[in-house]
Amino acid sequence: MSKVDEMFGSKVFNLPTMKERLPKDIYKSLVKTINDGTRLDINVANAVAHAMKEWAIENGCTHYTHWFQPMTGLTAEKHDAFIQPTEDRTVFMEFSGKELVMGEPDASSFPSGGLRATFEARGYTAWDPTSFAFIKGHSLYIPTSFVSYTGEVLDKKTPLLRSEAAIDRAAKRVLALFGKHPKRVVAYVGPEQEYFLVDKKLRNQRKDLLLTGRTLFGAKPAKGQEMDDHYFGQIKERVANFMREVDEELWKLGVLAKTKHNEVAPAQHEIAPVFATTNISNDHNQLTMEILKTVADHHGLYCLLHEKPYEGINGSGKHNNWSIGTSDGELLFKPGKNPQDNAQFLLFLAAVIKAVDDYADILRASVATAGNDHRLGANEAPPAIISIYLGDQLAAVVDKLVKHKGIKSDEGSVIATGVDSLPDIERDTTDRNRTSPFAFTGNRFEFRAPGSRQSIAGINIVINTIVAQTLTEIADALEGSKDIKKDAFDLAVKIFSDHNRIIFNGNGYSDEWVEEAEKRGLDNLKTTPDALPHFVSQKSIDLFTKQEVFTEVEVKTRGEIMMEEYDNTLHFEMLTMLEMAKQEILPACLKYTKFVTDDLASKKALGLDAPNEKERAEKLTSLTEALMEKIDALDAATAVPDEDAYAIGMYYKNTVIPAMDALRKVADELETIVSKEYWPFPTYTELLYHV
Ligand code: ADP
Ligand code: MG
Repeated sequence: MSKVDEMFGSKVFNLPTMKERLPKDIYKSLVKTINDGTRLDINVANAVAHAMKEWAIENGCTHYTHWFQPMTGLTAEKHDAFIQPTEDRTVFMEFSGKELVMGEPDASSFPSGGLRATFEARGYTAWDPTSFAFIKGHSLYIPTSFVSYTGEVLDKKTPLLRSEAAIDRAAKRVLALFGKHPKRVVAYVGPEQEYFLVDKKLRNQRKDLLLTGRTLFGAKPAKGQEMDDHYFGQIKERVANFMREVDEELWKLGVLAKTKHNEVAPAQHEIAPVFATTNISNDHNQLTMEILKTVADHHGLYCLLHEKPYEGINGSGKHNNWSIGTSDGELLFKPGKNPQDNAQFLLFLAAVIKAVDDYADILRASVATAGNDHRLGANEAPPAIISIYLGDQLAAVVDKLVKHKGIKSDEGSVIATGVDSLPDIERDTTDRNRTSPFAFTGNRFEFRAPGSRQSIAGINIVINTIVAQTLTEIADALEGSKDIKKDAFDLAVKIFSDHNRIIFNGNGYSDEWVEEAEKRGLDNLKTTPDALPHFVSQKSIDLFTKQEVFTEVEVKTRGEIMMEEYDNTLHFEMLTMLEMAKQEILPACLKYTKFVTDDLASKKALGLDAPNEKERAEKLTSLTEALMEKIDALDAATAVPDEDAYAIGMYYKNTVIPAMDALRKVADELETIVSKEYWPFPTYTELLYHV
């Protein structure tokens, strides 16, 4: 065994460990629960809890925690020691089945978007046996769902599991049309995680990085990313050591960390795992983000997960590679080798195309955050306009099908259009520019709009649900068909022509596309306040309730929480900016101006003429005056109206952000003329290159 084999999963209560430590019958019923979702007997739970505790204690644990994912998109944990008091005032270590299966964290401090006002405040956590327990530090972590006592979902995991069930239900109905009856259909995701590293000491000198995760000021460095020398470039030693430790920690936790490389911007990197089911991948992505942060600290670094740490430098995203497959190992977006399978492939492809077109606005809303607003449509990430890229090869097939839709024949229709022999669709070579938000890449779709810091739960809840919905519609239309091959094929072709507008294979960054998209009637929801109302629309409520993923109240709750998060983010950015401008930048500019004017005065006293220096003093003075004016303007904008979260969002967008931009512009110009010695915090060059 190599070191990596041994290390992998060593901190996870995984199947081999369960098998080794559980009585045979207990192990069997637990596996059945994991695979089929059967209810767990309390006796089984007791036995599992006991084995888990023994294993955890042997591995240095003193505590256990129910690990859950509240609607903030972060993770939450409360640790309880295994200790139980005895009568003689000593303790013994105990962990019962009940404690494993259910917990009661104090839910009152987690955002509930008004749910708590309507319902019982208390919530409980429930063990998710499909995601293995693991050890971090001295605690045993138990992945759990978080729900209220009245049944409302308070987290991101539960609806993700429900959306997986929706895909399973709907896809099975469609597969049954083709005589296939797999035990399960699962949704997979492989998230490519981008991040920046920055020297910790430098980061701590900047209030903006400290409090908001991004720079609110900063002039463009002399060398940005124009040279294209960082992408896939040689990895610096300090970074390589950091990456190695990240990999090892993730492997121990059973995370399939696979790929790592430098990204486009200086100090920007990526880590990607091997794909797994959306639920497991989501848990693992949360762990990955955590481990990136903790390990960075060991190396004197800080990991910035923000979508836009630096203006003028590419931001970070999280490409969400998504597909569905059967428990028999069939990937449903892989073109088949014979015409019958092709009809199935085309139908699943049609389901995605229709889903993305019908629910483009909800998909857009799923990636709407304050941080991500800086990327989408800024020619570094896909535009805010949602479209699908099929690649030249597949687009040609679809085109041909749409054009020939009039051809009527039974068996012949497949052959007449030349799709009886679809080749393996390779990832398209024209897919280099990565300007499409939703691209077909051979056997999966890559949703490229998500932000780097987002939990992937929300995104995949939406993708799973919209595709489950269109698959349901397809099953409704085709069940009872007498000639499934022909009808399936015809329906796929009809969907391709009805939803042709969402297919776009050109350059998504171009101005022509913005115009063209408008002609096609596609939404261009540029910012979070524009997008989020679509998440709580009647259409969205109908979708999520039909697929049993959210209730109406749960949809509204989530919308509200996402909107509040935007508002809060801008609130802190605005205040941090003001603090830095007033307490750090303005005093520095005044001091430096005084240095120059004092110098001028002493020269003048000696009868020396210094017209160029005088010009600089004038510029410093006028810019510093402008700085004060912009500070006052932003100060005035802090009077946020007392309205609902959506209206406040619009206020931030229309009033606060322009005032912040104006202040930054002046401050950044001052940075370029004020002496380094006087400038109050590290500049972009130091942040980006001293790593
Ligand atoms: P690239 O940067 O070229 O897009 P990467 O190798 O960085 O590709 O990441 C691709 C991601 O897609 C990986 O996480 C990989 O496991 C995942 N992936 C591959 N096949 C599938 C699939 N069928 N379904 C979901 N994810 C997949
Ligand atoms: Mg990649």
